Amino acid sequence: MAKLSGIEIYKNLPRTNCGDCCLPTCMAFAMQVASKKQALDGCPHVSDEARAVLGDAQVPPMATLTLGSGDRVLTLGGETVMHRHEERFQHPPVLAVRISASLGDAEIGARLAAIDALQFERVGKTIGIDAIAIAADGVDASRFGNVAQKIAKAADHLILLLCEDAEVLAPAVAAIADRNPVLVAATEAHADAMTALAVQYGLPLVASAPGIDRTAALSERLAASGVKDIIVDPQPLNLAEAVGRLTQLRRRALEERVRSVGYPSFVDIGALVDNNLNSDARATAEMTAGLSLVMRYAGVLVLDTVEAWAIHPIVTARQDIYTDPQVPNEVEAVLYEIGKPGSDAPVLVTTNFALTYFTVAGEVANSKVPCYISVVDTEGMGVLNAYADDRLTVEKLVDVIREQGVMDRVSHNHLVIPGLVARMRMGIEEASGWDVIVGPDNASGIPHFLHELQPQLQAQAQANTEAAG
Ligand code: SF4
Repeated sequence: MAKLSGIEIYKNLPRTNCGDCCLPTCMAFAMQVASKKQALDGCPHVSDEARAVLGDAQVPPMATLTLGSGDRVLTLGGETVMHRHEERFQHPPVLAVRISASLGDAEIGARLAAIDALQFERVGKTIGIDAIAIAADGVDASRFGNVAQKIAKAADHLILLLCEDAEVLAPAVAAIADRNPVLVAATEAHADAMTALAVQYGLPLVASAPGIDRTAALSERLAASGVKDIIVDPQPLNLAEAVGRLTQLRRRALEERVRSVGYPSFVDIGALVDNNLNSDARATAEMTAGLSLVMRYAGVLVLDTVEAWAIHPIVTARQDIYTDPQVPNEVEAVLYEIGKPGSDAPVLVTTNFALTYFTVAGEVANSKVPCYISVVDTEGMGVLNAYADDRLTVEKLVDVIREQGVMDRVSHNHLVIPGLVARMRMGIEEASGWDVIVGPDNASGIPHFLHELQPQLQAQAQANTEAAG
């Protein structure tokens, strides 16, 4: 059944505008139900007949899965929209890096260390690789079990067990079942044995078959056999096919409400990339595929590369796409100290858009020049937008800096404003009496700028101290 619009829901409501749902009209309630901000139960007067008609619209179109264990529990799926401007995307895709069980112990240790290092600080958050995909790659059951056990002991990441042979897989599953690993995968030929393992341990299982229809049929079979948490892999052969099939899966799940494809998706990116490429070219191809699939509905992605330059763009794009576009990404508008600023420290001013603040703070930290950063509340807007929208005005900026008291903490009277709002300089000087210095247009220029500014401020601070003495 297709997703119901607000009008269709409204037609099935009592239309009395009684207000018992705490909304003024039935239409307002219908719009809230359509956008999933209210459940149908919020109206106590819905008839059984209407409930039967509308009930299907209340069932989430995509299952929500909980993967992993301990501090690394991840939530996946639960998506409700095709496009991010309709409503936020709910749960970011899981990024896994493969470790082959056929590698020697030293090589496995080296890959684990490389995966562990793939964590990056951005906008005040740590982003990076979430999961390790342990591939059987032809080893026997005993070796696969031992490797799974060692990796589970060494790393707290979510674990994916890549093995289509239930006999080889069984000891590994028994050894690390408490980590709630994802079993990859049940194919049409081996579905029964894999299903039995997944059901026995209550583990998530990937349904893997060529194309959408066969994947849907297989997922139905797994669900009928009692597998609760299903992930679907339509086995694309290249990137174009992966983007196309994941888009079709999403459309069928969300718009056509086909239950058998209403699950998060899985793509083995490493398997899509040409083996004949050299390692840099492979990493580049994986980066391109990762970026495309993060944007186009991936649930779980398995990569081979451990190159930071290839992983960083993928995790950055994922972070951006899975923020709520309707909620400004803000930091608290207060005075921040970077390093241990003294009375001769530069005073910089910026806005409370998180990306702006963290970029400025990061460059100040890189400069190793201790500074004060005064943050003005611009309702999450960057410098230029805030200025254009009158959320960063001379009066507001001067008031905020006075309230934060930063000019009382330094023995100079210099204030550094962003280069993008150089035209505010005169106004601030007239309103405050401070000596305003225009900083660089781009945050990348901050370290050089601060190294040039610091001696001037130190000289002025010293002169002021001597004059006062
Ligand atoms: S409680 Fe039901 S009938 Fe009353 S206004 Fe809300 S939706 Fe309409």
